[in-house]
Amino acid sequence: MFQSVAVLGATGSIGTSTLEVIRLHRDRFQVLALSGWHQAEALGRLAQEFRPKTIVVAPGLAKTVRRVAGLTEGETVVLEGADGLVQIASSEQIDTVVTGVVGAAGLASTYAAVCAGKRVLVANKEPLVMMGPLLIRKANETGAQILPTDSEHNAVFQCLPEASQQQILGGGKLNSTPGLGRQIVGITLTASGGPFLRTPASELGRVTVKQAVKHPNWKMGSKISIDSATLMNKGLELIEACALFNLPESQVDVVVHPQSVVHSLVEFQDGSMLAQMGSADMRIPIAYSLSYPERIVSGAKPLRLTEIARLDFDRPDIGRFPCLRLAREAARTGGNAPAILNAANEIAVQAFQDKILGFMNIPELIERVLEACPYESITDINQVLSVDLMARRVAREILQAKSWPKTVSGN
Ligand code: MG
Repeated sequence: MFQSVAVLGATGSIGTSTLEVIRLHRDRFQVLALSGWHQAEALGRLAQEFRPKTIVVAPGLAKTVRRVAGLTEGETVVLEGADGLVQIASSEQIDTVVTGVVGAAGLASTYAAVCAGKRVLVANKEPLVMMGPLLIRKANETGAQILPTDSEHNAVFQCLPEASQQQILGGGKLNSTPGLGRQIVGITLTASGGPFLRTPASELGRVTVKQAVKHPNWKMGSKISIDSATLMNKGLELIEACALFNLPESQVDVVVHPQSVVHSLVEFQDGSMLAQMGSADMRIPIAYSLSYPERIVSGAKPLRLTEIARLDFDRPDIGRFPCLRLAREAARTGGNAPAILNAANEIAVQAFQDKILGFMNIPELIERVLEACPYESITDINQVLSVDLMARRVAREILQAKSWPKTVSGN
């Protein structure tokens, strides 16, 4: 039996890795839907190769996709606009939805896939950060299976006992069954530490965008690379982990591990700690999530322990990387705080890329936005979207109201 797959964000890094895994297993997976956004040419080439039944692209680009893919009218439906994402995420023909779409469009389509009871490989951050508890509750109602696909959460998932995995996939929660909950003392997420791991505090204010996007171990987009440099990426992952595994933030530790070989760990009450190791290659968590509970070839390079030679672990320096502290506080507060944090961070990172803010002003702006926005609990997706808009507006106002120190030099 084919597993029919929709790949949302097919031209991005998650989508590309997913399709690379699927290419190795054409007898097992069938790509029935693909979405890209502005990269119509690249999407057209993928469509030519995979012949999906439905394609979604940004408004005005359907023609380009059709031309590049050489598609006839009847063969494939090409939809334009974000509504198309929701449509394919909830289509009856689809079993598995891989969500690699960033921003608000990614939020709505991931939510739609969960509402439709799909197997959902959540590889975009926003849904679990902005409305994790809501998403898990919804999965519980609809029978959707949320497969943690971010490398850290996937690593934690791999280290859990099968009964706990089943609980999570059942929309249940790790510590809702007393016995299972007690077995697990906590989890540890690893962070590479980013490009400024050893940069002194006095120099961090002057680092450039070019330096910030140079991630030592993972090849990623520029937004997530900057998030890795501020450690906000780990902060967002901490929030995701709390939601996915139903753990309080106090049970989620973060350690700096520059080699990016151990992708995360689970600690048990008997004193055992299980780690998942592997090359820093997203095809591993993606392959695992696609084929769970089986394991299939991912195409990733095997790990050679003697080539790595050593593994280092260190405490993150909250003083130099306040974003991690802010994320932890937002996780503790819950409700709309993580969504506010996420929105403020996006504005701050963009301002840093536009050279309006210095690197160390990123956490400063986020903290001010969190202080300015009142607490609310989250009950539905529309509320999440309006919290997001409100936090962005507040962030822009604060950004404009103050003249930020001109610490940005170079490029
Ligand atoms: Mg990650």
